[in-house]
Amino acid sequence: MTPQGIDRRQFIRTACLGALSAGVGLPALAGCERKEGGTRTPEIVFRPLGRTGLKFSIVSFGVMNTDSLDLIRRALDAGVNHLDTAHVYLRGNSEKAIGEVLETAGMRDKVHIATKMYFARDRDAGLFLTDGDGRAAGATQENFDTQLATSLKRLRTDYVDILYLHNCYGPEMATYEPMLNSLVKAKASGKARFIGVTTHRREPDVIRAAVDTGVVDVIETAYNFMKENREETSRAIEYAHQNGVGIIAMKTQGGGRLSEEKKAGMNHTGALKWVLNDTNVSAAIPGITTFDQLETDLAVMSNLALSDQEKRDLELVLSAPAFYCQSCRECVPSCRERIEIPTLMRAYMYTEGYGNLAQAAATLEVLPEARGLDACRDCPSCTASCRRGIDIPRRLQSLAESHAFAV
Ligand code: SF4
Ligand code: SF4
Repeated sequence: MTPQGIDRRQFIRTACLGALSAGVGLPALAGCERKEGGTRTPEIVFRPLGRTGLKFSIVSFGVMNTDSLDLIRRALDAGVNHLDTAHVYLRGNSEKAIGEVLETAGMRDKVHIATKMYFARDRDAGLFLTDGDGRAAGATQENFDTQLATSLKRLRTDYVDILYLHNCYGPEMATYEPMLNSLVKAKASGKARFIGVTTHRREPDVIRAAVDTGVVDVIETAYNFMKENREETSRAIEYAHQNGVGIIAMKTQGGGRLSEEKKAGMNHTGALKWVLNDTNVSAAIPGITTFDQLETDLAVMSNLALSDQEKRDLELVLSAPAFYCQSCRECVPSCRERIEIPTLMRAYMYTEGYGNLAQAAATLEVLPEARGLDACRDCPSCTASCRRGIDIPRRLQSLAESHAFAV
């Protein structure tokens, strides 16, 4: 499926042409600065982050799937200057690891930290809940203050460089005034230098609405070559850039590094380059878990042009059966119990794509009762279907086995 009536092959050709021109005319490196990195990292490239005055390494570190102190240290030694985490990642251990590394190395003033505040939401309506849902705290000023204080303590710092409102499902959440006010207060108090929102659903709408608030400095958005709305998202990213709002790209690897993708020829450097060839993106935050991945991802910065093999591999993935869940929610009505299939697909991605069982478990834990795998236990047969071809029953079964639930 490709939106706006553009054939997949045509799209990837266009993307690749852009990448090729990056290699010769260097449009993808416009506005970048370079510096020599560590011994095994040839160079680190920086781009400005909107109007903030900050400059981020274009390959930054999504510390979502690891709490390895050595891996974080190695990234910083190589010259990465931006670590992205969240209050809920690895049940707080991501923030704790960052805090320990930065304090021990005395590098707090040299590294930019971004973290995210997460609150209960009505998943169907795409709205925050002020009362909480038994799993996540309600979206109130008091809970915001408590969560931020905990995150700062874990991070061993008095401030973060970017404070996001985590995972906004749509413009209604991204512009929810009480939470925006909480962000603005955090900035005014000095606990956050800059503020923003994150999204991996209805990205174009969220980006435009967040920019139009006039108070959002940075937006972190899902963005990759597999997203059906990638062209619309690209235009929204351009709008943000024109308005001085920094853009951080996440889910750049289309959901993971393992299993099914490899069968389809997934090429991770190609996927990362595809995102960074959009010069309106300030930085990408691949979820790195190994030293090999770190070295491979950092090496991308020295040459953003896609190789012929990378182009072929990306095209192959686009022509293969769907792997990447688009979070469109179109499958939800096909389930007898209307369970939270998109969130379960995300938990599957964490499990199979990243091998991050802890984050998958944390994702499952915040689902309200009877909206997760528990609802499948007494279900006679699965009626859930994805019009894009994702095998939902098989993934749910796999997820249940991985997390010891009986489906
Ligand atoms: S499983 Fe399919 S229908 Fe459901 S949210 Fe993902 S892409 Fe959409
Ligand atoms: S088994 Fe399928 S139809 Fe039944 S509750 Fe689970 S997802 Fe829904």
